[in-house]
Amino acid sequence: MPENILIKEAAVLIKKSDYNIAFTGAGISVESGIPPFRGEHGLWNKYDPHVLDLDYFFSDPVGCWISIREIFYDFFSESKPNKAHLALAEMERRGMLKSIVTQNIDNLHFEAGNKTVYEFHGNSKKLKCPICGKIIPVQEVDLKELPPRCPDDNNVLKPDFIFFGEGIPPDAYEMSFIAAKKCKVCIIIGSTGEVVPASYVPNTAKEFGATIIEVNPEESLFTKRITDIHLKGKAGKVMSELLRYLD
Ligand code: NAD
Repeated sequence: MPENILIKEAAVLIKKSDYNIAFTGAGISVESGIPPFRGEHGLWNKYDPHVLDLDYFFSDPVGCWISIREIFYDFFSESKPNKAHLALAEMERRGMLKSIVTQNIDNLHFEAGNKTVYEFHGNSKKLKCPICGKIIPVQEVDLKELPPRCPDDNNVLKPDFIFFGEGIPPDAYEMSFIAAKKCKVCIIIGSTGEVVPASYVPNTAKEFGATIIEVNPEESLFTKRITDIHLKGKAGKVMSELLRYLD
């Protein structure tokens, strides 16, 4: 846990600023039971990242969907927002957080109650027909039968998150960088900073003069380069403490 003095310092900066954003990565959802991709218990120790290649999806949709179902639907589906997600929702309610830019695809920020969330990599709770563009909530689709198909044109449905080889959803991209350029404080929570172009969001915030507060039990690529205050600890504990000081 970081020293209270650092958390207090972070809280003062957040209270003083009129434009705060959060940038979140897989680490914020670890305490909700969703493993990150990288690191000791990361998903890439168990699965080949190749399962998220766009070419693989189109060449072997059944094989690809078997892995996708196991990783993202068997694993993720029971997860609930944790204290860190709830703290961000409370900050937005109190007018202390304008928006969240998230790399996560687990929908937990919306489930926690945040309204302005830019999903840089899409959302696993929706499936999309790559041909006609129809979007279908995953709970309306029977994933026992693979691959799932579009009810309109029978094409194979794809999760509405981005695979390797796909572009960032244009609206999320644009809104994220507008927020990065405007914010005075950017709180990075649980991200290695290894994924581009997502990591350009906090880098842009710093370039445009924002103070960077980082919450992570480890150092990331951001820590030495752009972080002003590193709150070294798990997101749930640190964000609950921070919220206390924001009272
Ligand atoms: P990452 O997997 O590269 O790194 C996770 C980071 O979280 C690490 O820096 C780690 O030290 C930190 N961390 C671990 N436990 C933590 C905790 N309890 N509190 C705070 N931080 C903690 O994550 P990334 O940089 O976000 O990039 C991975 C990519 O994988 C993203 O693009 C994302 O789309 C995707 N992903 C998403 C989910 C999800 O939706 N929950 C899960 C896995 C991967």
